Amino acid sequence: MKRYQISHTALDYQDAFQLLVVTVLSAQTTDESVNKVAPILFAKYQTSTDLAEANPEDVEKIVYSTGFYRQKTRSIIKLAQGLEDLYDGEVPPDLDLLVKLPGVGRKTASVVLAEAWNIPAIAVDTHVRRVTGRLGLTSESDPAKIEQDLKALYPKSAWSGLSMRYIQFGRDTCEAKRPRCGECEMFGLCEWPDRFAFAGQSSK
Ligand code: SF4
Repeated sequence: MKRYQISHTALDYQDAFQLLVVTVLSAQTTDESVNKVAPILFAKYQTSTDLAEANPEDVEKIVYSTGFYRQKTRSIIKLAQGLEDLYDGEVPPDLDLLVKLPGVGRKTASVVLAEAWNIPAIAVDTHVRRVTGRLGLTSESDPAKIEQDLKALYPKSAWSGLSMRYIQFGRDTCEAKRPRCGECEMFGLCEWPDRFAFAGQSSK
């Protein structure tokens, strides 16, 4: 994992509130596409109070290009309302409190903790789950259990950058359908039986 020096999200944000919102918007789309709409969104809705009171049709027009715009509009307005109701508009730097917000799971909460406050946290997304499973670092499929396995394996100081590194590795080498096992420097450590087939080698 030394290959990946840059271990931060490519999403643009100014504070924890904005990071929460852009993380929700980034589902099923690219970070670049979210970065295009985020400045327009946050110029109009500068605080969670503004967004909590937003007219959904206005928000839909802004986030349209990120896809699933109706659902995402509902989610970010609900999120802003939850922030207002539960925490007076302040994003709490605490995983157990963050996951109480509407639509915020452990993955999003961990991203926010690690990125916004540099608090040790491991976000388990589809790439992290696939790559760590293939490598044999976990035999679990539940993200919360994978998170615990990884936390037991790595020192706390490594947690925050870990997810982004695995995500990058999962995108450029250990891809879901066509992993590049033949050129993978982790081949000797990997426990995935199919790696031989993808490397064009016999396992016998
Ligand atoms: S050998 Fe293949 S399956 Fe294993 S980590 Fe590398 S790319 Fe992924």
